[in-house]
Amino acid sequence: MKTLYWLRNDLRLDDNLALHRAMEESLEVLCVYIFEDRFFEDGIHGDKRMDERRAFFIWQSVMELRETIRNRGSELIVLKGKAEDILPSLMHETGMDRLVYSNSVGYEEIQIERKLNSAIGNCEGIWNHTLIDMDNLPFSIEKAPKVFTPFRKKIEKYHSYPDPVRAPRTIPHFSGSKPKDDLIGFEDLGFKTPNHDERSVLEFHGGEMAAMERLQHYFWESESLSEYVETRNGMLGADYSSKFSPWLAQGCISARRIHSEVKRYESEIEENKSTYWLIFELLWRDFFQIVALKHGKELFFEFGWKGEFREWSTDQKKFNKWCEGKTNDPFVDANMKELNATGFMSNRGRQNVASFLTHQLKIDWRWGASYFEEKLIDYDVASNWGNWSYVSGTGNDPRKDRVFNTKLQAERYDPNGDYVRTWNK
Ligand code: FAD
Repeated sequence: MKTLYWLRNDLRLDDNLALHRAMEESLEVLCVYIFEDRFFEDGIHGDKRMDERRAFFIWQSVMELRETIRNRGSELIVLKGKAEDILPSLMHETGMDRLVYSNSVGYEEIQIERKLNSAIGNCEGIWNHTLIDMDNLPFSIEKAPKVFTPFRKKIEKYHSYPDPVRAPRTIPHFSGSKPKDDLIGFEDLGFKTPNHDERSVLEFHGGEMAAMERLQHYFWESESLSEYVETRNGMLGADYSSKFSPWLAQGCISARRIHSEVKRYESEIEENKSTYWLIFELLWRDFFQIVALKHGKELFFEFGWKGEFREWSTDQKKFNKWCEGKTNDPFVDANMKELNATGFMSNRGRQNVASFLTHQLKIDWRWGASYFEEKLIDYDVASNWGNWSYVSGTGNDPRKDRVFNTKLQAERYDPNGDYVRTWNK
């Protein structure tokens, strides 16, 4: 058997079940990554769906992976276009007879998988993005709990997380010749290399190596994990939270690797509420993966999957001011400026700016989600759209009246105004 392995948001060798599946029974493996045209189309907020920061992070991750895959004997080719057009002809051109990829939970992504499954006979999707084992859930996707706490309790009671699997030492060689239109430079995507803002919480670098270095720092060098529960609502500096999200979103590190390192930390350093809480947050991530899978395209509807009517404003001027950080609410503005300058915003900031847009300005929640989709380096379809629908009241928040008072939030989480001063200069 000769297998084409289509990499998506699983840009790693460590704990990569799709790669292991691709290698099983294969004499040859060829890997491919596609910068999909749809990444660069306009979102519903009227601008690109991905800006240069995330594109650069992905590009760095892909280029590093190309080197490691080559060092282990195989080949990774990098293309731009539509996966559903490229992959069937690439299979034919290179003489491959099976396609393997990691499953996605996003509606659009699943449509592409369906097209591929009907175009290519031998096609296999593998669950590879979550801490939980999607093939062994203690409930069906249709009956998955709507609210996080019952979801978490069921998982904690009836489910055990699989151990991560090691990176393969060698990957079966690809003997054919590479297609000529293999993409190499970042500029080929039509972007310039983004600048680094000195105020950024971190200089995020794409790739598996940087992900492991971040874990090494946050767990083993600084032992910041021990204080995570006390610091996680911070907004300034590298270590108030793990900052794993960009690497998790692109799959440069797996949630199971993080979980197993937390367990090692608990046995070698200490076990406390903070060590538990990091896993708790990874379950929020999985919760939203299930939400996306369960609700399909309804997750992206104006009134959310619940379908409850809301009078949304489509005031473009107010929306633009929110995007630019010019609302006159210093806390909201500071957060939006951080997002625009760095591609990152703390969880506290995200909740506040999303609540402000949808509850104060009453602007269509999908515009905000779409703007975040463009800007975030850690954009993940399920985490982004799921959290936006949650905060805007169109999704899984059981409380109907949850609105963030941004002034009180600023007093509580930025009591000396350091954060607001940093970004509102
Ligand atoms: P930590 O606090 O260190 O948490 C560890 C990990 O747990 C994170 O890396 C993340 O993978 C996961 N996690 C934590 N909180 C959440 C949550 N509420 N939902 C899902 N996963 C969570 N996260 C994304 O990864 N991508 C997104 O596109 C995204 N969009 C968001 C949009 C809004 C409106 C809101 C309110 C939240 C969004 N989040 C998103 C969740 C959360 O804000 C980020 O995961 C977190 O701020 C990343 O920082 P960290 O890695 O330091 O998190």
